[in-house]
Amino acid sequence: MKWFKEDLYGATITQWLAIDKLIYKGKSKYQKILLFENKSLGRVLALDGIVQTTEKDEFIYHEMIVHVPMMSHPNPRRVLIVGGGDGGAAEEVLKYGSVERVVMVDIDGEVVELAKKYLRKICKRAFEDKRLELIIDDGVKYVANTDEKFDVVIVDSPDPIGPGKVLFTKRFYQSIYRVLDKVGVMSRQAGSTFFQGNELPQAVRLLRQVFPLNDVYLTAVPTYIGGLFSFVLSGKGLKAWPSLKVLEKRFAQAGIKTDYYTPEVHKASFVLPVYVARAIAK
Ligand code: SAM
Repeated sequence: MKWFKEDLYGATITQWLAIDKLIYKGKSKYQKILLFENKSLGRVLALDGIVQTTEKDEFIYHEMIVHVPMMSHPNPRRVLIVGGGDGGAAEEVLKYGSVERVVMVDIDGEVVELAKKYLRKICKRAFEDKRLELIIDDGVKYVANTDEKFDVVIVDSPDPIGPGKVLFTKRFYQSIYRVLDKVGVMSRQAGSTFFQGNELPQAVRLLRQVFPLNDVYLTAVPTYIGGLFSFVLSGKGLKAWPSLKVLEKRFAQAGIKTDYYTPEVHKASFVLPVYVARAIAK
């Protein structure tokens, strides 16, 4: 039996996943790529030794990084995804009939090609959807230079290591603020609240310098071990987040099918345990 060893949190904790079938192992210009099958998780994508997504639990992460900002916007028509090479976030965004255009910018074309070939259960037909434009480039460069405006921006980045490090800077958030229309919403993942304790407070601190409305929401993704996993939702031109009633109306109107997200889950995910609230209060 072969095993994938995932050293996490400064190599203080290791997760071992059985490689029941190796699908691809290689190195792109930017990162080491590993794709394999595991009997409990289905196909698993790891970049630079870190699990990015798995067929079995991707729906939790992708639905929460996508539907929370989408439902927080009154009429999301133009969406930008930074990162997200596996296509899972794009697939969720394209569920909306209201969406006219999606731009997805991932630095690594090889991840996208592998996802199209081997991760169909995750990306479905997203890459064939005419509303999606795929740009292979650095997300930071793209947001700094584009003149396009978006209603929603989703930052589906890896951890702040390797090519993903630049996606955690104030300059990047300032560019996102600029590319958002008068009313705009951004979501980003901000790591494990327990083991990556600095990542969330750092993200919140920077985002508060750029956006007037920022809040943290949580979920639990089985393969991102460590319990509660965090996201930040930032708003431009909004005074407050929508009420449960408004979310219910928008969700019913959108008519999309989900396996994790509901308006109640949306609202509940903003309830923070003391240690998380305290960490971001500083
Ligand atoms: N859900 C994942 C997680 O939290 O572990 C993130 C998954 S997604 C596959 C991460 C993507 O970000 C990868 O496809 C990677 O190529 C892309 N990426 C890394 N750095 C980037 C950059 N500077 N600009 C755009 N995309 C980047």
